[in-house]
Amino acid sequence: MTDPSVIDLPRRRVVAAIGAGMALSILSPFARSTGVEYPFTLGVASGDPVPDGFVIWTRLAPMAGQLTATVVVRWSVATDPAMTRVVRRGQKLADTNFAHSVHVEVTGLEPGRPYWYRFEALGEQSPLGESRTAPARDQATNRALTLGFVSCSHWERGYFSAYRHLADERPDLVFFLGDYIYDSSYPAGSNKIIRAHALTDISDLAGYRNRYTQYKRDPDLQALHAAAPSVATWDDHEVQNDYANRWSQDPGVDPALFLKRRAAAYQAFYEHMPLRRASLPRGPDMRVYRRLDYGQLARFHVLDGRQYRTEQPCIQPDGRHGGHVATCADLDDPTRTMLGWEQEAWLRDGLRQSPARWNVIAQDLLVAPLVQKDLQTGAQGHWTDGWDGYSATRTRLLNHIDASRVPNPVFFGGDIHSFWTTDLQVANKTVATEFVGTSVTSDGPPYEAFKAILPLNPHVRFFDSRQRGYVSVTLGQRQMETRFQVVSDCRDPAATVSTLKRFVVEDGRTGAQDA
Ligand code: FE
Ligand code: CA
Repeated sequence: MTDPSVIDLPRRRVVAAIGAGMALSILSPFARSTGVEYPFTLGVASGDPVPDGFVIWTRLAPMAGQLTATVVVRWSVATDPAMTRVVRRGQKLADTNFAHSVHVEVTGLEPGRPYWYRFEALGEQSPLGESRTAPARDQATNRALTLGFVSCSHWERGYFSAYRHLADERPDLVFFLGDYIYDSSYPAGSNKIIRAHALTDISDLAGYRNRYTQYKRDPDLQALHAAAPSVATWDDHEVQNDYANRWSQDPGVDPALFLKRRAAAYQAFYEHMPLRRASLPRGPDMRVYRRLDYGQLARFHVLDGRQYRTEQPCIQPDGRHGGHVATCADLDDPTRTMLGWEQEAWLRDGLRQSPARWNVIAQDLLVAPLVQKDLQTGAQGHWTDGWDGYSATRTRLLNHIDASRVPNPVFFGGDIHSFWTTDLQVANKTVATEFVGTSVTSDGPPYEAFKAILPLNPHVRFFDSRQRGYVSVTLGQRQMETRFQVVSDCRDPAATVSTLKRFVVEDGRTGAQDA
């Protein structure tokens, strides 16, 4: 595995590392012989909080070389940031099977409060992480919950200032909604490249691990993970652009072969995210759809929009998937599914039985239908890789939300590299509210061309594709406030942040209102 860190090491990290007396392990080719190999170069993370605990994560990845030995990693959780009041501790073995990653499901903690955690291995301490348990099931919390959601961080297109500014907000919980890494790269020499991927296109386990190793060394990404627990799902680029289930976007790829690639990509995702044992990959299969309850305030339904879907409709004459089409025979076929039948049923049950005031469906894509014009021909149509290619699933879901009177349904999404606020409708009645966040760095769609299609889509309340950023949310008993946050320039590692637009959703009243 080639080491991307030397060429792309962000300046702040070098300074921090030298300050910690680790300069040799980074800068000297003789680092190995000194015995100084700082192993926590990828930072720490926590995730999937419940009332009595959360997952804490790290991965040993010393700069100077790959580990081959099995290593004992000690961990501790404290009620204070100085780590003087340790309430849980233990140890785990890190080995080559999962690239020396460590996932600890911490239990026995108190609900609804902050904790701090740290790892130790090979004589070194990890950075400090902060996490937070969920409120108890019967707890009617008066405190508002603060959230953030992010998507689409292409390393090559810039710096992750959006992550840093979200970390500064110290949210209770962060949702990663997909395209956390990009499998593909810009051609060498492209003027799009602000900082290069270490490897170009990747398709095997070593390649995906290399990609996560590079991204995880980013100081802004590390700051966000260290600041708050997160909940991650994926979109396509964690595997391949516009893949669906076992089908590659490229025509003629044997699904059995593609599943090998998917298995490698899913394993690397598991190795680098604070996930529970329930998400352990089994061959090409891995469960990431799940629910999180925050007392009586909120239930989060986290979806997997990629693994179980039927092949995209309207496969093009050249065999390509996921295009812009006017229509075709199978576009609205009710026997097709985006989520898979099991996940669809699981979602309906979880919504119908929800005890919560707010039901947030956190997933990867724009849900609202969108009549688009082909950028070349101007012909009206739909983009089949998104929910518009799976309208039967959308119709079943929105009908169910309407019929079972799900309290305050709100969708969060990403993928489209632009901000959207929409009314999700059944027969012109708004039955759910939708917010989609812009990308952290990835290029947005052309603003003028999309602005021009808005009159064809009156259920769209807001759109902007011109800036990069994230979405910040305050969720209280009486209202949800959503802020579209933008960074000044993702090519600037010191970019500043501002608020582009605010919306509120009031309890009991579906649809966003200007704030
Ligand atoms: Fe993306
Ligand atoms: Ca995507």
